[in-house]
This record gives sequence, C-alpha cells and structure tokens, in this order.
Amino acid sequence: MAEFTMELNDEQKEVRDWLHGFAADVIRPAAAEWDEREETPWPVIQEAAKVGIYSLDFYAQQYFDPTGLGIPMAMEELFWGDAGIALSIVGTGLAAVGVLANGTEEQIGTWIPQMYGDANDVKVAAFCSSEPDAGSDVASMRTRAVYDEAKDEWVLNGTKTWATNGGIANVHVVVAVVDAELGSKGHASFIVPPNTPGLSQGQKFKKHGIRASHTAEVVLENVRVPGSCLLGGKEKLDQRLARARERAKTGGERVKNAAMATFEASRPAVGAMAVGTARAAYEVALDYAKTREQFGRPIIDNQGVAFQLADMRTSIDAARLLVWRASWMAINGKQFTAAEGSMSKLFASETAKTVTAQAVQILGGNGYTREYPVERMHRDAAIYTIFEGTSEIQRLVIARTLSGMSIR
Ligand SMILES: Cc1cc2nc3c(=O)[nH]c(=O)nc-3n(C[C@H](O)[C@H](O)[C@H](O)COP(=O)(O)OP(=O)(O)OC[C@H]3O[C@@H](n4cnc5c(N)ncnc54)[C@H](O)[C@@H]3O)c2cc1C
Repeated sequence: MAEFTMELNDEQKEVRDWLHGFAADVIRPAAAEWDEREETPWPVIQEAAKVGIYSLDFYAQQYFDPTGLGIPMAMEELFWGDAGIALSIVGTGLAAVGVLANGTEEQIGTWIPQMYGDANDVKVAAFCSSEPDAGSDVASMRTRAVYDEAKDEWVLNGTKTWATNGGIANVHVVVAVVDAELGSKGHASFIVPPNTPGLSQGQKFKKHGIRASHTAEVVLENVRVPGSCLLGGKEKLDQRLARARERAKTGGERVKNAAMATFEASRPAVGAMAVGTARAAYEVALDYAKTREQFGRPIIDNQGVAFQLADMRTSIDAARLLVWRASWMAINGKQFTAAEGSMSKLFASETAKTVTAQAVQILGGNGYTREYPVERMHRDAAIYTIFEGTSEIQRLVIARTLSGMSIR
C-alpha cells in the first residue's frame, strides 16, 4: 500500500500533463463544433487512438496505479477539455469494464480489442442496461434472454434506452433477464457481436448537454447470439442462479450484491468527470472576473463576485478529495462502510451543477451565449446528477449504508 501523501508522484504528474495537453490542444478547440453538430467526433477519437489515449491498455495502466488516482486524474483532465467529446472517448470503457468484470479470459481477449478497433479504424462499444421502464429501478428490467439448448444460442428480445454509443457500436454488451423471479439476481450480461441480425438503433436522443456523445435506444428483436457470448459462461451462471434460488427459498440473509461493490468502486470516476467540468468553468470565470471591468474596476474587485469564486474553488477541491479518497479505498480493497463511492459522486456532480451555474452568472450576458464555453459546460454538467445513478439514488445508497435500514 502506498504511503499517505497529498502529492502526485513524478510519473502521475507526467501523465496528467500529457493528458492536459491533449485536452487543451485537441479536445477543447473541437468542443463547440461537435456540440453543435450533435455527432460522434470520430476524428478526435482517432487522434486519441493515435497517441494512445483511446485503448484498453491506457486505462488498465491507470487503473492499476496503486494510489488509485490514475483513473480520476485521467477523467478530470479529459472532461476538463470537454464533457461530450471526453464521453465519446471513454464511453467504450463502460462496456469494456462490463466484460472485464464478468467475462472469461477468452471473452476478454476476443471482444475488448473489437470494442476499440485501432487507430486506422476506430470502433466504439455500448453498455445497454437501462430500459424505458427500468432506470433507477434496474430490477424491473424486461429484456429477456432465453436459452435455445438445441442450438447452444441465446435469444434476446427487448428495448434498451439511453445507451451511450447504442446502435453505432461495433460490440454491444446487453444486460437481460434470465430468471424473472430472482429480480436483479436473475440478470446476466451478453455480448452482441458486430452486425448481428435483429439488433437495431431506435431513437437517437437530442440532448440538453454532452451533445457530442451519441445516446440512443437499442432494439433487440430475436437477436441470436452463440452460447459463448454469455459473459462468464453457462456453468457459472447456473451456479449463481442456483445459489440465488436457494437463498430466496430459505429466506437467507441477503448477501451484499457484488454489483453494488462494483458501483461503489466505479462511481468516483464519474465524480472525477464532474470535477473536470466544474474546474473548467471555474477557470473561465476567474479569468473573466479579473479582466471584465464595470464601474471602473475589474468585477472581481467586488466581494460578491470574489466570494463566489472562493466558494467555487473550495467545493471543487472538496469534491476532488472525496473522489480521491474513494478511489484510494477501491484500489486498496477497503470496505465502503459509509458508501464513500456514492458520496464522492453525489458531491462532485452537485458541485459541477452549482459551479457551472455560478460561472454563467459571473460572465453575465456573455455567459448566456455560445460565444463563451461556460454555457455549454453548464448544460453538460446536468448529466452528472443523472447517469450512473441519480443524486437521489446516491442519497438512498448512502442512507441505507449508514443506517442499515431499507429506507425507501
Ligand atoms: C446521456 C445519458 C447517457 C446514458 N448512458 C447510459 C448507458 O450507456 N447505459 C445505460 O444502461 N444507461 C445509460 N443512461 C441511463 C441512466 O443511467 C438513467 O437515465 C438513470 O439511471 C436514471 O434512470 P431514468 O432516466 O429512468 O430516471 P428514473 O429512474 O425514472 O428517475 C426519475 C426521477 O425520480 C427519482 N427517483 C427514482 N426512484 C427514486 C427513489 N427510490 N427515491 C427517490 N427518488 C427517486 C430519480 O432520482 C429522478 O430524479 C444514460 C442516461 C443519459 C441521460
């Protein structure tokens, strides 16, 4: 375990500065254009692939940083550049993590390279869990996967929604119900390989923010995938289902869901994205407040403006510290006894919303136009309190963890 220090080591500083350079030189200048186009910024993803920022290897390296700070640092810098473009770059990671967490070595080796493609032919992947009637309430999922034993194939039917890269992905990871009586314990994840008949893109959403990131429905109509596409394999699934049925029958103690632990560990990454957006808006506001003059002096000369900036920076730093604590806990295998992962996501995402709104206010009329980036950052920030569990769901998780009671 690394000794406690508040300072990044030389290697971390080098990676951070390199990512910051990419965010400043490649991502930020392209942000307004792709926000207006509301399209996946393929050329920027390709640039990221060329320099090594769009690959599993890069994120795996960051993940295994023993301090836990590799991933939050990377997220903060990329999302500082622009949230929509950064999500297009890191969105594939969500599907890749789904395979890494549940897949066999063979599945990892087969599918993850196909999710990213290569610098000459970049690909993206999608993770499809949410449904029109199953957002926060994941257990009410309806998409079914039925095993056709004669052909050793799974048949998937249902409609997924809000899928980042849904329909344009080379590889889709789809969560489906295999045993409806077991609630979320009866879910399993499947790979849908490229060009599988029956999978199609439904509505593509026109969004408030992160408009460079593609979000769409994914329709599954009699989608047949080989048995080998069940993540983890059939034997493991059968064993897991048998255990869940036994517990349901005997009313045995609810074993802490492994998925919950994974969420606790992954939520700080979303918190770090929010810190990146908040910091970007704060920096623009600070510069503006120092140069914009009214009543014969810079507007920062008024405590009303200066104190807002002081509060903005204080919340951003507090958010980062919560994110770093939870990330450090995750990599060091610490128990999240107070839902520290959820805490970091909750605080950082709410901070991003508040700070970007304050930045718009400090820029006055200019803040309200698309001539200045804070307008876009404010729209982008709203997503952090919604995806990967809304703020209300984070509060629910924290309150349940603290109290041990099933608060509704
Ligand atoms: C841009 C974008 C990208 C996304 N990407 C993906 C993706 O790649 N893959 C994927 O699977 N999903 C994705 N999602 C889905 C996202 O995770 C869901 O939108 C989110 O979980 C909320 O679900 P919902 O939209 O159905 O809201 P609902 O669950 O309907 O919630 C609506 C409101 O009710 C509140 N609420 C619900 N239940 C409770 C409760 N028990 N107590 C208090 N308040 C409650 C919520 O907090 C919220 O304010 C994405 C969403 C967006 C917008």
